[in-house]
Amino acid sequence: MTYPDDYRALVAGARRILCDIDGCLIRGGQPIDGAAAFVGAVRDRLALVSNNSTDTAKGLSDRLARIGIEVPETQIFLAGEQTLLHVQAAYPDARVRLIATDAIRDRAETLGLHLTTERPDLIVLCRAPDTTLAELESVLVQITHGVSAITANPDLTHPGAAGPAIETGAVAGMLQTCRPGLSIPFVGKPAAPLFLLGLQNAAPDEAIMVGDNPETDIIGAKRLRIPALLIHPDTSMGPTIASLI
Ligand SMILES: [Mg+2]
Repeated sequence: MTYPDDYRALVAGARRILCDIDGCLIRGGQPIDGAAAFVGAVRDRLALVSNNSTDTAKGLSDRLARIGIEVPETQIFLAGEQTLLHVQAAYPDARVRLIATDAIRDRAETLGLHLTTERPDLIVLCRAPDTTLAELESVLVQITHGVSAITANPDLTHPGAAGPAIETGAVAGMLQTCRPGLSIPFVGKPAAPLFLLGLQNAAPDEAIMVGDNPETDIIGAKRLRIPALLIHPDTSMGPTIASLI
């Protein structure tokens, strides 16, 4: 594929355009050059698919709108919120210990999940910067006693405002280091669920995935046979979101 003409042609011809958020549309909470124009150009063909596990789609839609990127919440699919929806559907009666931000906790309560810290049936890990080591130790004890865990995403870090921010995959990794052989499944990319939500009723080859992370965005899309375009937050590194329109 030759950049940039083939990239533009793929975007122009795609029925569905799946796009990551961090590193593609925003960086450090600020818009990347060309992001608002890209979103405006592709409009209702767009689905944002992100391993974010701190925000709801509504919260993120509002936050993006404040920096000039207008995407309705119905077009945003986030790993943390989708993990809650998965738990609601798959384990409707489970007592759930949720490690998460207040926004995700509020969403879980709205969905009717039965939240508890004592004697849970399932532990759900989202990104929660205020989590203490004591809380993680008590999660480890529960896991040691046979409680299953699920995590929003396998990411070790994401680009924060000051540098790398610790992600849920690193927390899951710590628990797995303490308990070798422990398996903690995840909902986010590169697993299939967010991609499938973004496709809606389009076939994989009628869509494209735009992402900046080869390990999650690109590998996950290719496993489902969705053509994938690797972009970067910075023009010095290669094509950016501004290159696609
Ligand atoms: Mg990214």
